[in-house]
Amino acid sequence: MTVYLHQEDLPAGVLAAGPVAIDTETMGLLTPRDRLCLVQISDGGGDEHLVRFAPGSDYAAPVLRQVLADPERLKLYHFARFDLAAIQHYIGVVAAPVYCTKTASRLIRTYTDRHGLKELVRELLGQEISKQQQSSDWGAPELSDAQKEYAASDVRYLHALRERLDPRLVREGRMELAQACFDFLPSRAALDLAGWPEVDIFAHI
Ligand code: MN
Repeated sequence: MTVYLHQEDLPAGVLAAGPVAIDTETMGLLTPRDRLCLVQISDGGGDEHLVRFAPGSDYAAPVLRQVLADPERLKLYHFARFDLAAIQHYIGVVAAPVYCTKTASRLIRTYTDRHGLKELVRELLGQEISKQQQSSDWGAPELSDAQKEYAASDVRYLHALRERLDPRLVREGRMELAQACFDFLPSRAALDLAGWPEVDIFAHI
């Protein structure tokens, strides 16, 4: 159970085969303006890897890039839409195939409008995570221990959440719909980047 911080790329061979949980931290919510500072990855085995990018980075990151672009490796996110856009814009890859715990939650936890990661981890896993560092300076040259722990906790529970969410999707007959939504998420992120961020292109008016 260790959090590893790396600079500019993931070392080769640190991830087991299979699905990886992915999260990103940026300078803010406007992807083209607010640079990608950190990519977090976990293979579900208990360790988290944080890859920090310095100001002016070329985001070459060949090892990380290969993992993200690997069509055989499922990527688990919470709110994939944002992370996919940041990864697409800065690293230049479509980090699919996608599983999004927030989208899954919206499709089955219809008894609540609380679909944040903190809420999901509390209800489905009985764990408490802190969101205190969410709005902090991710571009700082030295990340604090609190930032590193926060960044790691954002990928720590995604494998376990998927295990709890999938049976519920099956139970409610929404697995196929969920899969269709996951498959569309890279296009939803591309629409965000292309200039339709808050417009529903399927809307009548
Ligand atoms: Mn995060």
